[in-house]
Amino acid sequence: MTAQLSRERIMQAAQRLYNRCDQLAEISALDNGVLRAYLTPEHQQANTLVVSWMVSEGMRSWVDQAGNVWGRYASANPHAKRLIIGSHLDTIPNAGKYDGIVGVLAGIELVALLNAKSTALPFHLDIVGFADEEGVRFGKTLLGSAAIAGGWQPEWQTLADADGITMAQAFSTFGLVAEDVHRATLNPEALLGYWELHIEQGPVLEEQGLAVGIVTGIAGARRFNITVTGHAGHAGTVPMTLRQDATVGAAEMVQTIEQLAIDHGLVATVGQFAVKPGGVNVIAGQAVFSLDIRSDDDALRDRVVEKITSAIQAIAARRKLTVSLEQTHAANAVLCDHAFRQLFSLACQQMTASSFSLVSGAGHDAMAVASICPVAMLFMRCKKGISHHPDESITVEDTAVALTVLEQALLSLSNQYKT
Ligand SMILES: [Zn+2]
Repeated sequence: MTAQLSRERIMQAAQRLYNRCDQLAEISALDNGVLRAYLTPEHQQANTLVVSWMVSEGMRSWVDQAGNVWGRYASANPHAKRLIIGSHLDTIPNAGKYDGIVGVLAGIELVALLNAKSTALPFHLDIVGFADEEGVRFGKTLLGSAAIAGGWQPEWQTLADADGITMAQAFSTFGLVAEDVHRATLNPEALLGYWELHIEQGPVLEEQGLAVGIVTGIAGARRFNITVTGHAGHAGTVPMTLRQDATVGAAEMVQTIEQLAIDHGLVATVGQFAVKPGGVNVIAGQAVFSLDIRSDDDALRDRVVEKITSAIQAIAARRKLTVSLEQTHAANAVLCDHAFRQLFSLACQQMTASSFSLVSGAGHDAMAVASICPVAMLFMRCKKGISHHPDESITVEDTAVALTVLEQALLSLSNQYKT
């Protein structure tokens, strides 16, 4: 096959993927805007459509006990290991068209490209559309990927949605059995790895002028509630030098947190900030704020948490305030597999003579799957970094670059595997 023909095939695949994102976006619980939640009629319809696309590429397709949809491009060796490529098909309310979806459809287009050249693989290529990543309906994220990774907790079936419908009831309406979800767990020994293409959901690739970037790891996050206590007082009668103002103490702490994050090359965010009692003529006696701190380097993140802790204690002491930190969440970073990253990097270099790596600040299905096999992620540029919003936007050209990189990496893995 000539390079020209190959390029045309990739562009056609990218265009079809793009059009299919529009088609999937029509399956929604909202009249205006996209919403597909777990175990709903929309979930069922999306699965049916994706199965039809998989079958039209000659794949054997099935839905597992957790409601994830699968398609297999089979190796001639029935006992071959499995490489999984995919992402999620569910969405948040009023979502864009691409978050998650592109990763599933890219897998199907890769199979179409393999079909076009009758390429035989020494491993099974399994494409997955995870049923629930966003956690919209039952308040638990990564449900689909947790199920295949053996992380499913039986008590989740008692969780209820906003209408009081339990997950067990929703399973039954959907035609599945909640008690059987553990059977969706995969055997780690049969797995080669998991690859996920996802929109970046941030502005870095656009700023770099790049279509794709290789993910080094998914940042681990720690979250805290921080309470600063001073002394409430009258805004008119207490002199500035005699105040124990919780607001200004907390404000100084927030600025210190920003500076420590900048100095150490990670991200820290104060997204909630409230003061009490909250009167215009009252010095605040208490301030409570949140802290979310993330890095792909757990040790670095923990060191910065220690620095933040001692810095805010020093600020409190100087201002005659007290401060306490309560940790509300802790998750370690997940690193992407080095050998897979090399494959992606070589494929990028073949196209553009360079490759670019970045950290994922957001969580993805790959986090859950990493507990059973090596994982890799490729990010694709999205306009202005916008996601979780109807303005989410990608281009066919960038999609073609992503497909080329993945196809090249897949063929390299296949060659390595034979030798
Ligand atoms: Zn996503």
